[in-house]
Amino acid sequence: MGNESKRSVTVRFLGVGEACDETQPNTSIVIEAQAAGGSGGLQILLDCGFSATHRYFQACADPEALDVLWVSHFHGDHFFGVPLLLLRFWEMKRLKPLIVVSQPGGLDMVLRAMDLAYPGFSERLTFPLEEVVLDAGDAKEVCGVMWRAAQTEHGRKNLSVRIDGPSWSFFFSGDGRPTAETEKLANHCDFAAHEAFVIDGADSVPGHGTVHGCLRWAGAAGVKRLALVHIQRDVRRTQWQAIRRILESSADLEVMVPESGEIVDLL
Ligand SMILES: [Zn+2]
Ligand SMILES: [Zn+2]
Repeated sequence: MGNESKRSVTVRFLGVGEACDETQPNTSIVIEAQAAGGSGGLQILLDCGFSATHRYFQACADPEALDVLWVSHFHGDHFFGVPLLLLRFWEMKRLKPLIVVSQPGGLDMVLRAMDLAYPGFSERLTFPLEEVVLDAGDAKEVCGVMWRAAQTEHGRKNLSVRIDGPSWSFFFSGDGRPTAETEKLANHCDFAAHEAFVIDGADSVPGHGTVHGCLRWAGAAGVKRLALVHIQRDVRRTQWQAIRRILESSADLEVMVPESGEIVDLL
């Protein structure tokens, strides 16, 4: 029974790319938790950029499956896929409310994007959008799991999120360099997905994480497993071997660089 319950939470990397990567869809993650007995599960979509929505519907044909959308921040590679998500749910005649969890002003940004992409459709949606504001330092229960957020260092206000289920915890950075607050947020969490734009400090880009920085951060936070995502496209292509060597040498931490489409068990 113990193993069965452990197997029931999955992390699906719809995409692992940065904004401009033409080979990897934008970083976007689906968390799926099956309740005991197989009914009343929970599905969460973490960020939904330009190229993530088609991947979502490749993976999930049920218009009612998604419970909660999290938007880390308002750069296009993290939320410009939302208008298409809502349009297609409308087309599929979704009825269930969709909960949008984000920083203050989040639902307004989503509706503005929707209005530019498909004018007039926000009023025609066949399902309600329910906003839950989650700012840095907040802790709120949504759909039976606990949500908490902390701000990273990024060009636009970005919140990392931690979700605690009954027997699991998951952290997603969104974009940005880790901070003391996000280190605290990730304390002893089971699985963290963190953006690592480049390998180290010398090449580092203001407002973005690095492979070495993420490893230090995860070690300090006591994260059990770490997935590095949102790697700059040229770095991913040309420095793959160097990244592999770094990961292999980090013996005390389980680290992965997932492929787009990859599904892993959270526990
Ligand atoms: Zn990004
Ligand atoms: Zn960004």
